[in-house]
Amino acid sequence: TRVRVMELEESPNVSFKNVGGLKEEIEEVREAVEYPLTKPEVFERIGVEPPKGILLYGPPGTGKTLIAKAVANQANATFIRMSGSELVHKFIGEGAQLVRDLFTLARERSPAIVFIDEIDSIGSMRTQDGTSGSAEVQRTLMQLLAEMDGFDNRGNVRIMAATNRVDMLDPALLRPGRFDRILEVSLPDESARLEILKIHSSKLNMKNVDLLDLVKLTENTTGAEIQAICREAGMIAVRKDLNYVTMKNFEDAVLKVRKKNKTEDIMYI
Ligand code: ATP
Repeated sequence: TRVRVMELEESPNVSFKNVGGLKEEIEEVREAVEYPLTKPEVFERIGVEPPKGILLYGPPGTGKTLIAKAVANQANATFIRMSGSELVHKFIGEGAQLVRDLFTLARERSPAIVFIDEIDSIGSMRTQDGTSGSAEVQRTLMQLLAEMDGFDNRGNVRIMAATNRVDMLDPALLRPGRFDRILEVSLPDESARLEILKIHSSKLNMKNVDLLDLVKLTENTTGAEIQAICREAGMIAVRKDLNYVTMKNFEDAVLKVRKKNKTEDIMYI
């Protein structure tokens, strides 16, 4: 069962070409994560310590995991993802040990990038639900802090984390020597949406589809939603047995994906 909570990929099959927009964010992540792995001598020559960990925050589906995988690919590093919420909800009593295992594995498979998704599940200021997990969650967090304190900024294991709720994080996680770089990944603007639309429609056979019109129609959507819209437009065309995906198919797909996500939002409340 130990492997399930961790997902390991050797040099993931995602490159910067698969990421729409987010140019500055990518550059920041490369500085903090990739260059210390690929050109450590520059940091040494200049005499600067690379940041120990970088935290990405922003709405779900905006490309945080995607950036992390692309950087791992670029650095030819092993990508090891651990889900904070799975750790807390499915592996009760094993949290601290799993965190220890995570870092052991990363050292064995180095150069490696450790990516802790939904870190707020382990590192929240308060426990929201007050369930029995809280003392255990606290132990898991202490173990994570100990692992981070115990290793060298210049080593060939880099740590990234992601959250949708940066406001809830325990300040202990954000102290110097821990996640000392914080980077916002926000909703894509028009030019980013155009790039994302191009990426996810590249394989579709389309007729008279104006991506610039779609940029307008997809205001306030995430990259993940744009991907879903492209797939849905294709599925509608399949269902109608068309030869091409049409603009109308895209318009229907936008409505469908927006409606679906709205109901999900309501279900959360
Ligand atoms: P979560 O907080 O839910 O983990 P996330 O920010 O990590 O979300 P990703 O897992 O990176 O989101 O995005 C999900 C999928 O949406 C990606 O695999 C990709 O296909 C698509 N996607 C999201 N953002 C972008 C983007 N900027 N460019 C291209 N595709 C994107």
